[in-house]
Amino acid sequence: NLILAIETSCDETSAAVVEEGKEILSNIISSQIDLHKLYGGVVPEIASRKHIEKINYVIEEALEKADKKLEDMDAIAVTYGPGLVGALLVGVASAKAIAYGLNKPLVGVHHIEGHINANYIENKDLKPPFMCLVVSGGHSHLVLVKDYGTYEIIGKTRDDAVGEAFDKVARAIGLGYPGGPKIDKLAQEGNAKAIDFPRSYLEEGSYDFSFSGIKSAVLNYLNQCKMKELSINVADISASFQDSVVEVLVNKAIQATKDYKMDQLALAGGVAANSHLRKKLAQTCKENNIKMYYPSLEYCTDNAAMIGVAAYYDYKKGVRHSYNLNAVPNLKIGQNK
Ligand code: ATP
Ligand code: MG
Ligand code: FE
Repeated sequence: NLILAIETSCDETSAAVVEEGKEILSNIISSQIDLHKLYGGVVPEIASRKHIEKINYVIEEALEKADKKLEDMDAIAVTYGPGLVGALLVGVASAKAIAYGLNKPLVGVHHIEGHINANYIENKDLKPPFMCLVVSGGHSHLVLVKDYGTYEIIGKTRDDAVGEAFDKVARAIGLGYPGGPKIDKLAQEGNAKAIDFPRSYLEEGSYDFSFSGIKSAVLNYLNQCKMKELSINVADISASFQDSVVEVLVNKAIQATKDYKMDQLALAGGVAANSHLRKKLAQTCKENNIKMYYPSLEYCTDNAAMIGVAAYYDYKKGVRHSYNLNAVPNLKIGQNK
């Protein structure tokens, strides 16, 4: 089984060829980060235009690197939500054109299901059921993965996503976009105990998250420093902020894993690249006899390989989409089946 997968939901134009849902024959990613950096965040209109410029080259390169032809593919997979509508449309239109032109099955994939499925790429022993902590630029979810392609959201953020909080705090302390990796790096030189930022656990037993409070706390702290003319230490702010966010994520994820009687916990999404989160979660999993899984950095942030893997399991279950498939910016998990 060979699947050509396409991902254009945000600011990465990506195409991959995936064999049997696990061998990544190619995974080409063209990032627009340098372009959006100038504006401090992703500009939707620019993202769409750039996807149009890149998409054909990225697909050609993915096929070339995999040493396959379009005719060899068993299905064409594409992210059709959630994401920026103009950006999604470029991938969806390309995938439909190829599928229609060659009369191949089309499989529409949910972007976050892709992030979750990235865990199967390198962890060949990981099998459902397991708990998954999804932390990305737009989402913070605790997802129970009941089976391949079957998910139940048991908790989610009530306001900002974790990646969003990282990016906003980074901008406030002058680190620029995207802030996550920069805070991660700077925090290694800072003192995590320097500033006592709030940890939001919400009501007892809740698996939901809230990250707008800590974001405001950082902004208030910065204002206070300015008013009192105190110098600010960006490394300490980064470390203290990161520590507070990671503590809540780790504790809730472990609690959920135990409450649902799971012995495996996976990490997914762009923030899964965070070194402090990986380390802290690994340590806490070990103490609780939970096996931890996470994708390597290449598969944490947006890429088409993860979309091809998710599509493989859906394809096996008979999921097919019509050539009228449209982008759905607010697509819900599981809605594509
Ligand atoms: P979504 O997947 O929710 O639609 P997205 O696709 O924009 O959103 P991803 O590409 O999955 O998000 O992840 C990007 C996010 O990950 C950004 O917010 C970025 O700051 C964050 N991120 C990347 N690396 C790190 C890191 N090392 N530490 C913390 N955050 C990180
Ligand atoms: Mg991105
Ligand atoms: Fe993503």
